[in-house]
Amino acid sequence: MTISSRSLLRRLQSEQKAMTATLARYVELESPSGAPEPIAALVAEIAKDFAAIGGRVRLHRMKGHGPALQVDFSGPRRSPRLLLLGHVDTVYPLGTLRTMPWREKAGKLNGPGTFDMKAGIVQALYALRALLAEGPLPCNVRMLLVPDEEIGSPASQPLTEKLALQADAVLVLEPAAGEEGACKTSRKGVGRYTLRITGRASHAGLDFERGASAIVEAARQVEAIHALCQPQKGLTLNPGLITGGTRPNVVAEHAEIVVDLRFFSAAQAKRADAALHRLRPHDPRCKLELTGSVERWAFERSPATVRLYRVAQKAARGVGFELAEKAVGGGSDGNLTAALGIPTLDGLGGVGDGAHAPHEFVFARELPRRAAMLAGVITALAAGEGLARG
Ligand SMILES: [Zn+2]
Repeated sequence: MTISSRSLLRRLQSEQKAMTATLARYVELESPSGAPEPIAALVAEIAKDFAAIGGRVRLHRMKGHGPALQVDFSGPRRSPRLLLLGHVDTVYPLGTLRTMPWREKAGKLNGPGTFDMKAGIVQALYALRALLAEGPLPCNVRMLLVPDEEIGSPASQPLTEKLALQADAVLVLEPAAGEEGACKTSRKGVGRYTLRITGRASHAGLDFERGASAIVEAARQVEAIHALCQPQKGLTLNPGLITGGTRPNVVAEHAEIVVDLRFFSAAQAKRADAALHRLRPHDPRCKLELTGSVERWAFERSPATVRLYRVAQKAARGVGFELAEKAVGGGSDGNLTAALGIPTLDGLGGVGDGAHAPHEFVFARELPRRAAMLAGVITALAAGEGLARG
Protein backbone atom coordinates (compact mmCIF):
# COMPACT_ATOMS: atom_id res chain seq x y z
CA MET A 1 0.00 0.00 0.00
CA THR A 2 1.34 3.43 -0.82
CA ILE A 3 1.14 6.21 1.65
CA SER A 4 -0.68 9.26 0.41
CA SER A 5 1.72 12.16 0.05
CA ARG A 6 -1.04 14.57 1.00
CA SER A 7 -1.60 12.85 4.35
CA LEU A 8 2.17 12.83 4.97
CA LEU A 9 2.25 16.54 4.25
CA ARG A 10 -0.66 17.24 6.59
CA ARG A 11 1.00 15.24 9.32
CA LEU A 12 4.31 17.08 8.86
CA GLN A 13 2.62 20.47 8.68
CA SER A 14 1.04 19.77 12.05
CA GLU A 15 4.59 19.21 13.32
CA GLN A 16 6.10 22.46 12.03
CA LYS A 17 6.49 23.84 15.57
CA ALA A 18 8.22 20.67 16.75
CA MET A 19 10.52 20.76 13.69
CA THR A 20 11.38 24.37 14.47
CA ALA A 21 12.13 23.48 18.09
CA THR A 22 14.40 20.62 16.99
CA LEU A 23 16.24 22.95 14.64
CA ALA A 24 16.67 25.49 17.46
CA ARG A 25 18.17 22.76 19.64
CA TYR A 26 20.69 21.81 16.91
CA VAL A 27 21.58 25.42 16.13
CA GLU A 28 22.16 26.25 19.78
CA LEU A 29 24.81 23.53 19.88
CA GLU A 30 27.52 25.32 17.95
CA SER A 31 29.57 23.00 15.78
CA PRO A 32 32.45 24.62 13.92
CA SER A 33 34.67 22.34 11.83
CA GLY A 34 37.75 21.30 13.78
CA ALA A 35 36.09 21.56 17.23
CA PRO A 36 35.81 17.87 18.25
CA GLU A 37 33.97 18.31 21.55
CA PRO A 38 31.22 20.67 20.39
CA ILE A 39 30.74 18.50 17.31
CA ALA A 40 30.50 15.40 19.53
CA ALA A 41 27.86 17.13 21.67
CA LEU A 42 25.72 17.94 18.63
CA VAL A 43 26.21 14.46 17.18
CA ALA A 44 25.07 12.95 20.51
CA GLU A 45 21.90 15.05 20.39
CA ILE A 46 21.13 14.10 16.78
CA ALA A 47 21.95 10.44 17.48
CA LYS A 48 19.49 10.44 20.39
CA ASP A 49 16.71 11.76 18.12
CA PHE A 50 17.34 9.18 15.40
CA ALA A 51 17.65 6.36 17.94
CA ALA A 52 14.28 7.41 19.36
CA ILE A 53 12.62 6.65 16.02
CA GLY A 54 14.33 3.27 15.75
CA GLY A 55 17.57 4.05 13.92
CA ARG A 56 20.69 2.02 14.70
CA VAL A 57 23.36 4.53 15.56
CA ARG A 58 27.06 4.14 14.92
CA LEU A 59 29.75 6.73 15.59
CA HIS A 60 32.96 6.85 13.53
CA ARG A 61 35.76 8.57 15.40
CA MET A 62 37.71 11.05 13.33
CA LYS A 63 40.76 12.37 15.07
CA GLY A 64 40.74 16.12 15.49
CA HIS A 65 37.25 16.53 14.04
CA GLY A 66 34.72 14.85 16.28
CA PRO A 67 32.72 11.82 15.17
CA ALA A 68 30.82 11.13 11.96
CA LEU A 69 27.32 9.81 12.61
CA GLN A 70 25.92 6.83 10.77
CA VAL A 71 22.30 5.79 11.30
CA ASP A 72 20.72 2.73 9.70
CA PHE A 73 17.11 1.80 9.12
CA SER A 74 16.39 -1.56 7.55
CA GLY A 75 13.87 -2.13 4.82
CA PRO A 76 12.84 -5.37 3.16
CA ARG A 77 15.66 -7.63 1.98
CA ARG A 78 16.81 -6.81 -1.55
CA SER A 79 15.06 -3.44 -1.46
CA PRO A 80 17.10 -0.43 -2.66
CA ARG A 81 19.72 1.04 -0.36
CA LEU A 82 19.63 4.80 -0.05
CA LEU A 83 22.26 7.00 1.52
CA LEU A 84 21.18 10.34 2.97
CA LEU A 85 24.32 12.45 3.13
CA GLY A 86 25.08 15.61 5.05
CA HIS A 87 27.34 17.30 7.57
CA VAL A 88 27.08 18.57 11.13
CA ASP A 89 29.87 21.15 10.97
CA THR A 90 29.40 24.84 10.26
CA VAL A 91 31.75 27.65 9.24
CA TYR A 92 30.98 29.71 12.37
CA PRO A 93 33.49 29.84 15.23
CA LEU A 94 32.40 29.12 18.81
CA GLY A 95 30.68 32.13 20.32
CA THR A 96 28.96 33.20 17.10
CA LEU A 97 25.59 32.72 18.84
CA ARG A 98 26.36 35.80 20.93
CA THR A 99 26.21 38.05 17.87
CA MET A 100 24.03 35.82 15.69
CA PRO A 101 21.56 34.16 18.06
CA TRP A 102 18.78 31.76 17.11
CA ARG A 103 15.83 33.90 16.04
CA GLU A 104 12.36 33.31 14.67
CA LYS A 105 10.95 36.28 12.86
CA ALA A 106 8.40 36.69 10.10
CA GLY A 107 8.55 33.07 9.09
CA LYS A 108 12.34 33.01 8.93
CA LEU A 109 14.53 30.92 11.21
CA ASN A 110 17.87 32.64 11.59
CA GLY A 111 21.10 31.40 13.14
CA PRO A 112 24.47 29.84 12.38
CA GLY A 113 24.09 26.67 10.32
CA THR A 114 20.29 26.86 9.99
CA PHE A 115 20.47 26.72 6.20
CA ASP A 116 23.85 24.98 5.78
CA MET A 117 22.73 22.47 6.82
CA LYS A 118 20.98 21.73 10.12
CA ALA A 119 17.52 22.18 8.58
CA GLY A 120 18.37 19.32 6.21
CA ILE A 121 19.02 17.05 9.21
CA VAL A 122 15.74 18.04 10.87
CA GLN A 123 13.84 17.39 7.63
CA ALA A 124 15.40 13.93 7.32
CA LEU A 125 14.47 13.13 10.94
CA TYR A 126 10.83 14.10 10.51
CA ALA A 127 10.54 12.54 7.05
CA LEU A 128 11.70 9.18 8.43
CA ARG A 129 9.55 9.58 11.51
CA ALA A 130 6.47 10.21 9.36
CA LEU A 131 7.22 7.17 7.19
CA LEU A 132 7.85 4.98 10.24
CA ALA A 133 4.52 6.04 11.70
CA GLU A 134 2.94 4.20 8.74
CA GLY A 135 4.98 1.02 9.24
CA PRO A 136 8.47 -0.32 8.50
CA LEU A 137 10.48 1.63 5.92
CA PRO A 138 9.95 0.44 2.34
CA CYS A 139 13.69 0.30 1.66
CA ASN A 140 17.05 0.44 3.43
CA VAL A 141 17.89 3.97 4.48
CA ARG A 142 21.25 4.95 5.87
CA MET A 143 22.23 8.44 6.89
CA LEU A 144 25.78 9.71 7.16
CA LEU A 145 26.58 13.07 8.72
CA VAL A 146 30.25 14.03 8.57
CA PRO A 147 32.06 16.51 10.87
CA ASP A 148 34.43 18.15 8.36
CA GLU A 149 32.63 19.00 5.09
CA GLU A 150 33.15 22.74 5.41
CA ILE A 151 36.91 22.25 5.38
CA GLY A 152 36.90 19.88 2.43
CA SER A 153 36.15 16.57 4.23
CA PRO A 154 39.81 15.63 4.82
CA ALA A 155 38.99 12.96 7.42
CA SER A 156 35.59 11.72 6.28
CA GLN A 157 36.08 11.36 2.53
CA PRO A 158 37.06 7.65 2.63
CA LEU A 159 34.02 6.82 4.80
CA THR A 160 31.67 8.78 2.52
CA GLU A 161 33.07 6.97 -0.50
CA LYS A 162 32.84 3.57 1.18
CA LEU A 163 29.21 4.03 2.19
CA ALA A 164 28.29 5.57 -1.18
CA LEU A 165 29.64 2.49 -2.96
CA GLN A 166 27.23 0.38 -0.89
CA ALA A 167 24.26 2.52 -1.93
CA ASP A 168 21.99 2.54 -4.98
CA ALA A 169 21.49 6.30 -4.72
CA VAL A 170 22.74 9.22 -2.67
CA LEU A 171 20.39 11.99 -1.55
CA VAL A 172 22.32 15.01 -0.31
CA LEU A 173 20.67 17.04 2.46
CA GLU A 174 22.60 20.21 1.62
CA PRO A 175 20.65 23.48 1.22
CA ALA A 176 18.42 23.99 -1.79
CA ALA A 177 19.45 26.58 -4.38
CA GLY A 178 17.69 29.93 -4.26
CA GLU A 179 14.55 30.90 -2.44
CA GLU A 180 12.53 28.82 -4.88
CA GLY A 181 14.26 25.76 -3.38
CA ALA A 182 15.76 24.16 -6.49
CA CYS A 183 17.73 20.97 -6.18
CA LYS A 184 21.25 20.75 -7.53
CA THR A 185 21.87 18.48 -10.48
CA SER A 186 25.32 19.66 -11.46
CA ARG A 187 28.26 21.53 -10.12
CA LYS A 188 31.08 23.22 -11.91
CA GLY A 189 34.64 22.02 -12.05
CA VAL A 190 37.61 24.32 -11.59
CA GLY A 191 40.96 24.80 -13.31
CA ARG A 192 43.83 27.17 -12.63
CA TYR A 193 46.35 28.33 -15.24
CA THR A 194 49.25 30.76 -15.33
CA LEU A 195 50.43 32.32 -18.59
CA ARG A 196 53.95 33.75 -18.33
CA ILE A 197 54.99 36.22 -21.01
CA THR A 198 58.60 37.12 -21.70
CA GLY A 199 59.28 40.11 -23.91
CA ARG A 200 62.36 42.24 -24.43
CA ALA A 201 63.24 45.10 -22.09
CA SER A 202 64.40 48.47 -23.37
CA HIS A 203 64.47 52.16 -22.42
CA ALA A 204 61.04 53.62 -23.02
CA GLY A 205 62.54 56.92 -24.20
CA LEU A 206 65.76 56.06 -26.01
CA ASP A 207 65.06 52.63 -27.41
CA PHE A 208 61.32 52.17 -27.45
CA GLU A 209 61.15 50.20 -30.69
CA ARG A 210 63.85 47.75 -29.68
CA GLY A 211 61.70 46.60 -26.81
CA ALA A 212 58.93 44.01 -26.99
CA SER A 213 56.48 44.74 -24.23
CA ALA A 214 55.30 41.74 -22.25
CA ILE A 215 52.49 43.93 -20.90
CA VAL A 216 51.15 44.84 -24.33
CA GLU A 217 51.41 41.17 -25.28
CA ALA A 218 49.58 40.24 -22.06
CA ALA A 219 46.77 42.65 -22.92
CA ARG A 220 46.34 40.96 -26.29
CA GLN A 221 46.41 37.52 -24.67
CA VAL A 222 43.73 38.61 -22.20
CA GLU A 223 41.50 39.42 -25.17
CA ALA A 224 42.21 36.00 -26.68
CA ILE A 225 41.48 34.23 -23.38
CA HIS A 226 38.29 36.21 -22.87
CA ALA A 227 37.13 35.20 -26.36
CA LEU A 228 37.12 31.54 -25.24
CA CYS A 229 34.36 32.15 -22.67
CA GLN A 230 30.88 30.75 -23.29
CA PRO A 231 29.12 31.99 -20.15
CA GLN A 232 25.71 30.90 -21.48
CA LYS A 233 27.08 27.34 -21.54
CA GLY A 234 28.76 27.68 -18.16
CA LEU A 235 32.29 27.90 -19.52
CA THR A 236 34.23 30.84 -18.12
CA LEU A 237 37.88 31.86 -18.05
CA ASN A 238 38.59 34.68 -15.66
CA PRO A 239 41.97 36.39 -15.94
CA GLY A 240 41.62 37.36 -12.32
CA LEU A 241 45.19 38.30 -11.62
CA ILE A 242 47.70 40.13 -13.81
CA THR A 243 51.18 41.32 -12.94
CA GLY A 244 54.10 42.64 -14.93
CA GLY A 245 56.68 45.30 -15.60
CA THR A 246 59.19 47.01 -13.37
CA ARG A 247 59.02 50.78 -13.99
CA PRO A 248 57.05 53.19 -16.17
CA ASN A 249 60.13 54.10 -18.20
CA VAL A 250 61.07 50.52 -19.02
CA VAL A 251 59.42 48.44 -21.75
CA ALA A 252 58.29 45.44 -19.70
CA GLU A 253 60.18 42.21 -20.05
CA HIS A 254 57.84 40.08 -17.94
CA ALA A 255 54.15 39.74 -17.34
CA GLU A 256 51.91 37.05 -15.93
CA ILE A 257 48.21 36.27 -16.17
CA VAL A 258 46.47 33.87 -13.78
CA VAL A 259 43.26 32.37 -15.14
CA ASP A 260 40.42 30.69 -13.21
CA LEU A 261 38.61 28.20 -15.44
CA ARG A 262 35.05 27.00 -14.62
CA PHE A 263 33.16 24.39 -16.60
CA PHE A 264 30.26 21.95 -16.49
CA SER A 265 31.66 19.07 -18.51
CA ALA A 266 34.96 17.33 -18.99
CA ALA A 267 34.63 17.95 -22.74
CA GLN A 268 34.40 21.71 -22.16
CA ALA A 269 37.42 21.62 -19.88
CA LYS A 270 39.48 19.69 -22.40
CA ARG A 271 38.57 22.10 -25.21
CA ALA A 272 39.45 25.11 -23.06
CA ASP A 273 42.72 23.49 -21.99
CA ALA A 274 43.65 22.79 -25.62
CA ALA A 275 42.74 26.35 -26.66
CA LEU A 276 44.92 27.80 -23.92
CA HIS A 277 47.82 25.64 -25.11
CA ARG A 278 47.28 26.91 -28.66
CA LEU A 279 47.78 30.56 -27.68
CA ARG A 280 50.61 32.09 -29.72
CA PRO A 281 52.36 35.43 -29.23
CA HIS A 282 51.03 38.35 -31.24
CA ASP A 283 54.51 39.88 -31.27
CA PRO A 284 56.88 37.11 -32.44
CA ARG A 285 59.62 38.52 -30.19
CA CYS A 286 57.56 37.55 -27.12
CA LYS A 287 57.48 34.08 -25.61
CA LEU A 288 54.53 32.44 -23.88
CA GLU A 289 54.72 29.73 -21.27
CA LEU A 290 51.54 28.10 -19.94
CA THR A 291 51.33 26.07 -16.73
CA GLY A 292 48.33 24.74 -14.82
CA SER A 293 45.52 22.27 -15.25
CA VAL A 294 42.06 21.23 -14.09
CA GLU A 295 42.04 20.93 -10.29
CA ARG A 296 38.57 19.54 -9.62
CA TRP A 297 36.31 17.82 -12.12
CA ALA A 298 32.67 18.78 -12.33
CA PHE A 299 29.66 16.96 -10.90
CA GLU A 300 28.08 16.41 -14.30
CA ARG A 301 24.37 16.27 -14.94
CA SER A 302 24.36 12.55 -15.65
CA PRO A 303 21.31 10.56 -16.82
CA ALA A 304 21.28 8.87 -13.37
CA THR A 305 21.07 12.25 -11.64
CA VAL A 306 18.34 13.38 -14.02
CA ARG A 307 16.33 10.21 -13.21
CA LEU A 308 16.60 11.03 -9.49
CA TYR A 309 15.57 14.59 -10.21
CA ARG A 310 12.44 13.40 -12.06
CA VAL A 311 11.52 11.29 -9.02
CA ALA A 312 12.01 14.28 -6.70
CA GLN A 313 10.04 16.53 -9.05
CA LYS A 314 7.12 14.10 -8.93
CA ALA A 315 7.35 13.85 -5.14
CA ALA A 316 7.32 17.65 -4.91
CA ARG A 317 4.23 17.84 -7.13
CA GLY A 318 2.59 15.31 -4.83
CA VAL A 319 2.92 17.78 -1.97
CA GLY A 320 2.00 20.81 -4.04
CA PHE A 321 5.07 22.47 -5.41
CA GLU A 322 7.22 22.54 -8.50
CA LEU A 323 10.83 21.49 -7.86
CA ALA A 324 13.30 23.26 -10.13
CA GLU A 325 16.84 22.08 -10.75
CA LYS A 326 19.91 24.25 -10.80
CA ALA A 327 23.52 24.03 -11.76
CA VAL A 328 25.72 25.64 -9.13
CA GLY A 329 29.31 26.76 -8.83
CA GLY A 330 29.99 25.65 -5.23
CA GLY A 331 30.55 22.07 -4.14
CA SER A 332 29.62 19.42 -1.58
CA ASP A 333 30.37 15.82 -0.70
CA GLY A 334 27.77 15.00 -3.36
CA ASN A 335 30.39 15.32 -5.97
CA LEU A 336 32.59 12.75 -4.28
CA THR A 337 29.74 10.27 -4.60
CA ALA A 338 28.79 11.39 -8.13
CA ALA A 339 32.42 10.96 -9.18
CA LEU A 340 32.17 7.31 -8.08
CA GLY A 341 29.28 6.84 -10.49
CA ILE A 342 26.66 6.54 -7.75
CA PRO A 343 23.42 8.31 -8.76
CA THR A 344 23.42 11.49 -6.67
CA LEU A 345 20.93 14.30 -6.17
CA ASP A 346 21.97 17.34 -4.18
CA GLY A 347 20.18 20.27 -2.58
CA LEU A 348 17.33 18.35 -0.91
CA GLY A 349 17.76 20.23 2.39
CA GLY A 350 16.42 23.51 3.72
CA VAL A 351 15.11 26.43 1.72
CA GLY A 352 16.48 29.83 2.64
CA ASP A 353 19.50 31.96 1.95
CA GLY A 354 22.71 33.41 3.35
CA ALA A 355 24.88 30.30 3.72
CA HIS A 356 28.06 31.27 5.64
CA ALA A 357 26.72 34.81 6.19
CA PRO A 358 25.23 36.68 9.18
CA HIS A 359 21.72 36.68 7.69
CA GLU A 360 21.68 32.88 7.17
CA PHE A 361 18.12 31.58 7.50
CA VAL A 362 15.55 28.99 6.41
CA PHE A 363 11.85 29.45 5.83
CA ALA A 364 9.90 27.73 8.64
CA ARG A 365 6.98 26.82 6.37
CA GLU A 366 9.32 24.94 4.02
CA LEU A 367 10.45 22.49 6.71
CA PRO A 368 7.32 20.27 6.51
CA ARG A 369 7.06 20.53 2.72
CA ARG A 370 10.67 19.54 2.14
CA ALA A 371 10.41 16.71 4.65
CA ALA A 372 7.28 15.47 2.87
CA MET A 373 9.08 15.65 -0.46
CA LEU A 374 12.02 13.65 0.95
CA ALA A 375 9.62 11.03 2.31
CA GLY A 376 8.01 10.88 -1.14
CA VAL A 377 11.41 10.43 -2.82
CA ILE A 378 12.30 7.59 -0.45
CA THR A 379 8.94 5.89 -1.10
CA ALA A 380 9.27 6.23 -4.88
CA LEU A 381 12.86 4.96 -4.97
CA ALA A 382 11.82 2.05 -2.75
CA ALA A 383 9.24 1.17 -5.40
CA GLY A 384 12.03 1.06 -7.95
CA GLU A 385 11.31 4.37 -9.67
CA GLY A 386 14.30 6.32 -10.92
CA LEU A 387 16.88 3.62 -10.33
CA ALA A 388 18.37 1.65 -13.20
CA ARG A 389 19.10 -1.54 -11.31
CA GLY A 390 20.63 -4.91 -12.03
ZN1 LIG B 1 26.94 22.43 3.48
